[in-house]
Amino acid sequence: MESTQLLTSFQDFGLADPISRALKEENYLTPTPIQVQTIPIALTGRDVVGIAQTGTGKTAAFALPILHRILENRIKPQPKACRVLVLSPTRELSGQILDSFNAYGRHMRLTSALAIGGVPMGRQVRSIMPGVEVLVATPGRLLDLVQSNGLKLGQVEFLVLDEADRMLDMGFINDIRKVVAKLPIKRQTLFFSATMPKDIAELAEAMLRDPARVAVTPVASTVERITQRIIQVDHSNKPTFLANLLKSETVNRALVFTRTKHGADKVVKSLARAGISADAIHGNKSQNHRERVLAAFRTGEIRTLVATDIAARGIDVDGISHVVNFDLPNIPETYVHRIGRTARAGAEGVAISLIAGAEEMGYLRDIEKLIRIALPREDHRTPGHREAAPPPAQHRGARSGPRTHASRSNEAAPGSKGPRRNRRPGGNGGAPQTNRHETSRQEPSRPPAQATGKPEGMQGVAFLHRESRPNTRPNRTQRPR
Ligand code: AMP
Repeated sequence: MESTQLLTSFQDFGLADPISRALKEENYLTPTPIQVQTIPIALTGRDVVGIAQTGTGKTAAFALPILHRILENRIKPQPKACRVLVLSPTRELSGQILDSFNAYGRHMRLTSALAIGGVPMGRQVRSIMPGVEVLVATPGRLLDLVQSNGLKLGQVEFLVLDEADRMLDMGFINDIRKVVAKLPIKRQTLFFSATMPKDIAELAEAMLRDPARVAVTPVASTVERITQRIIQVDHSNKPTFLANLLKSETVNRALVFTRTKHGADKVVKSLARAGISADAIHGNKSQNHRERVLAAFRTGEIRTLVATDIAARGIDVDGISHVVNFDLPNIPETYVHRIGRTARAGAEGVAISLIAGAEEMGYLRDIEKLIRIALPREDHRTPGHREAAPPPAQHRGARSGPRTHASRSNEAAPGSKGPRRNRRPGGNGGAPQTNRHETSRQEPSRPPAQATGKPEGMQGVAFLHRESRPNTRPNRTQRPR
């Protein structure tokens, strides 16, 4: 089905107004599948155990209902205490989670703090001293704080365990058990893990009470035969570049993705001007049109099909030799899903992404983090546009490589608004008094997903099991050209 009406919208959750406003500002239009599954249950106060990986939107899946419930019962945290405790395996992830809470909670004067290892404890102790609503922590540092009497856990109402499998891998199991033993029995626990082997399931069993189980489905395709090309271009040159690509490559069938319906129509027109016949499918096209176009694409009558993510959902066409991301998706898993349309049935495929500007560069880094590979860039920008050209992220081998703050700041367009991860409530990059954010991460970076127009909606974000994660390492042909 290709109807946006069928998708759950954020309004359906009935989230409190300050949260809804923040989501609008984040340009979150449609919840991701893990959000659709988790938010309504978590809002009822029930425990949740979720199988979901970073990139699926799981941070908002747990943060939004918690913020809503905090607003429903706004009590002042006691000194040295927190109402929400989020445990995450790494400093980077902890920082990102805190940034997300602060972004979604920017209209509710949320108080928050970070407790991570590797930095002096004094500032963290001071930031927790008056009591905070949300504390995001790595397990080791959290225990240090508790043991040194800098933090009391008796007021925790919400516990989140994020990336539980990774915490186990990193040897945090005993720390976690010690922390949980100090928490009130009466609390809501939200437990997320990318995988659910036996030891994780046992840990969940011990920590949760009658949990609802949620999961997002694995990406079915493997992409090991896909040559992935990242081409940096000037925004205004994208249409010409696409036309030239389609003319020069040995294109059998090309599926071109845009983020907006309007964008899809524009691409079709620009291709027509370049003498390439293409058609578009998106939410504004009738079912009839869609079926006709798909049939023509299948038979090869139309060799280039332009689609938005929602419209492309049902497309199951073999022989797509090229997937082109005219716009990069803002959800990393959507990228994996898109490029999985090529290289079906044992064939080889090429996925080409046209990247322009800091915003898309930010999306690219998120994708590289998810697929754990640094994709080589091909730079076709005109000289004046080359300033913000960060190198590929070095994530190969890391399970979920950190998004370094330094690299983020490189990506920022001068004067751009900060990203949702790092934007401080209140805007302007300055932390308001109520935000006792511990670190000095003040770099600007990715602006909100606005510039390319209104995305047609979130596509069915798929979940990658760690075991079944597609091999996206470059093959021999995957060198910069
Ligand atoms: P996460 O899996 O929580 O790390 O989220 C992955 C990325 O998706 C982050 O950059 C989020 O800002 C973004 N994101 C999460 N949910 C949505 C949504 N409903 N609409 C648009 N972007 C989203």
